[in-house]
Amino acid sequence: MPTVAELADRLTKPLTLELKSGCQNRVVAGGLEGLLRGPLANPFPQVREMLEGYAGWSVPEREQALGRALEALAAKAAGKAPSAQTRRSVPKATIKETVPPAPAGAQLPIDALIERLDSGRGGERKLKSLGLHQLRDLLHYYPHRHEDRRALPSLDHVEEGQKVTVQGVVVSRFKRTPKPRMTILEATLETGGGRVKATWFNQPWMERQLREGARVIVTGRVKRFGRTAQLAAEHLESLDSAEGSLSTGRIVGVYDAKEGISQEFLRRAAWRALQAAPLDDYLPAHWRREYGLTPLADALQGIHFPADEGQLSRAMARLRFDEYLFLELRMLLQGEEAVLQGKRFEAHPEDIDRFEGNLPFNFTGAQRRVLGEIVEEMRSDRQMARLVQGDVGSGKTAVAACALYLAVRDGYQGALMAPTEILARQHYANLCKYLEPLDVRVGLLIGAMTPKAKLDMQGRIALGEVDIVVGTQALIQENVQWDNLGLAVIDEEHRFGVMQRRKLLASRPDVLVMSATPIPRSLALTAYGDLELSVIDELPPGRTPIETKLIQDGYRAQAYGFVMGQIRQGRQAYVVTALIEENENLELLAATELAENLAEMLPEARIGLLHGKMTAAEKDDIMASFRRHDFDLLVSTTVIEVGVDVPNATVMVIENAERFGLSQLHQLRGRVGRGSLQSYCVLIAGEMSKKTEQRLRIIEGSTDGFVIAEADLKLRGPGEIRGTRQSGIPDLRLGDLANDAEVIEQARQLAKHILSNDPRLEHPRLQYLRSELQNRSQSVAFREVI
Ligand code: ADP
Ligand code: MG
Repeated sequence: MPTVAELADRLTKPLTLELKSGCQNRVVAGGLEGLLRGPLANPFPQVREMLEGYAGWSVPEREQALGRALEALAAKAAGKAPSAQTRRSVPKATIKETVPPAPAGAQLPIDALIERLDSGRGGERKLKSLGLHQLRDLLHYYPHRHEDRRALPSLDHVEEGQKVTVQGVVVSRFKRTPKPRMTILEATLETGGGRVKATWFNQPWMERQLREGARVIVTGRVKRFGRTAQLAAEHLESLDSAEGSLSTGRIVGVYDAKEGISQEFLRRAAWRALQAAPLDDYLPAHWRREYGLTPLADALQGIHFPADEGQLSRAMARLRFDEYLFLELRMLLQGEEAVLQGKRFEAHPEDIDRFEGNLPFNFTGAQRRVLGEIVEEMRSDRQMARLVQGDVGSGKTAVAACALYLAVRDGYQGALMAPTEILARQHYANLCKYLEPLDVRVGLLIGAMTPKAKLDMQGRIALGEVDIVVGTQALIQENVQWDNLGLAVIDEEHRFGVMQRRKLLASRPDVLVMSATPIPRSLALTAYGDLELSVIDELPPGRTPIETKLIQDGYRAQAYGFVMGQIRQGRQAYVVTALIEENENLELLAATELAENLAEMLPEARIGLLHGKMTAAEKDDIMASFRRHDFDLLVSTTVIEVGVDVPNATVMVIENAERFGLSQLHQLRGRVGRGSLQSYCVLIAGEMSKKTEQRLRIIEGSTDGFVIAEADLKLRGPGEIRGTRQSGIPDLRLGDLANDAEVIEQARQLAKHILSNDPRLEHPRLQYLRSELQNRSQSVAFREVI
């Protein structure tokens, strides 16, 4: 790669030449643009951008632009502005150049299909299964958090429980078998700053990589014993192999993955996408300057592979701004046209009374209010697109069932779509309970049904012989022709793809979306924009709040003694163990071991196991037999679905609670307390820092999803390296509504400014912005889709 000085030099020479001889413009300009496509393209995207279209400019324009470009380069050479492509700023001694070679493939357009990217064997299938179809999807598939894996020279100043990375040479190694089926591998590393001992628990296969003299880099949690510190290793890589790593020795991103897709794979794919990506920016430079935004190329590089905290925060600022900008642009562009013709229902008050009369309970005040909002909109011509938000168990489904009943009474069909088969079955059971006594014909349509049964159900739907259909995506994907769809209810909408939705919504039914994600009201309006909002902010009476207790690892025996007490009383319990992101085999191992360990500890309990490597049908089977009380205790990795309802389960034990996010813990806890029985949640924490403990105490202290979400926000310090919090809103991957008021304001200001000059985004310079907006709208706009 040429140095900055060399480039500046090469830039200056044609410049002087050209300015003297105007007639040579084309030739020299071609030379410059050649440079921009060649050696300048990659290391200096800003410069390339500044000089784009050079050939068509007048001499003074060129002079000015070149002046600016030189200035930028000079600033870089002096180290003022960080380079977009600075790989890292960590001391050299601790780092090896471990970046794998860029794929041979050339640059790709932003909308290139993912198969054009070299993502390794099976890579294409994996990426598509995550919903990533174009190069841009992959570039914008941001890590949900980042981990600092830059190597430390020693563990001297590291707190207990903190996750750190060290790098060194193995000087000795030792294997112990303290118990049958338990092996502990210990290795001592010479790091240059001292010696560090690292341990591997039950991973005997690691021995191979730990021969003396091997150069390794290890990430793990720190355990202190008096004055010495050890590392409980979680991730190891060799520094001797030819092929380097994107997963260590740097700040690494951690992506949302699923079974069979590793973090390493995703990092490599992101890396290759960045290599192949065009470096243009959809936001023209003068606006970036005005709003202090880093170029897109720097931001994308920085979100996936930040050189340092500075680049990461620049990246987050830029990409977050963009999310709001597109959101605001879309809302402004839609304007009044958003009101679409929908179904018009009678929604007779007698029918509401009849529905409620058939319930074993009365609606709460909040349910009644929300139902009123829904009914009013159902009666109007306008198409309903309403978000019903409420904590788990607040009674959203009961309200939705009533709305479906009203639609059926008006002669329409209704649909209820759930994100998983387990949930679809559960909704089906509930709707049957609510509606069959009222002579409503409810049908189920899920992927697990036999082809014949599906066909049969589809036929009956088409003929109008079924009033309400509950199902998963299969409902929409597999060729359902509705007779007369009037109302569609979507549970946990963010898991649905746009195309699936579009198909269901082709006949313009009214739409209700149910979500348990707590978002403060004012912000929800900004986020959803095109959805009206109804909030069920009250739990049904007679619920005894779940009692939550945070305990340290050392008290596990007592905790499980308590669990056994509940089982003896005829209750059931869940035990959830944390996902180990780096290694799904380890995750399975951990769950299996935990189940075995519990079987030894609680010989009387009947124990079942649920994990992510099971097929959907196997998971369903296990859940069904747990619901039948065929066994007492369900050990599970985090695959238990949000919303699964087993009223007899009264205890939720969460192992390694420190590894979960608060909202995840809150959702998991919501699995118990589904009936009238007093329920309990036990959080067992391994090693944790003070901060982590403080965080977990929030869950202990509150059962209110809104309170938890807010407290979680307040606790997060600005200095923390941490990526995105999942807002639960599909289009805001980085946006953090509760804290972004200022960014939202700025983005809105720019959006207004852009549209006031060019209300339809027709200017050639804005074509990329426009196509990006269209593309993102696919994943956002509700009304547009409907
Ligand atoms: P959500 O969909 O918000 O999680 P559900 O509608 O599934 O909540 O309700 C959770 C449980 O509470 C169900 O067992 C339901 O029958 C019950 N339930 C709903 N509304 C009430 C109410 N007003 N009073 C008592 N129980 C209720
Ligand atoms: Mg629900």
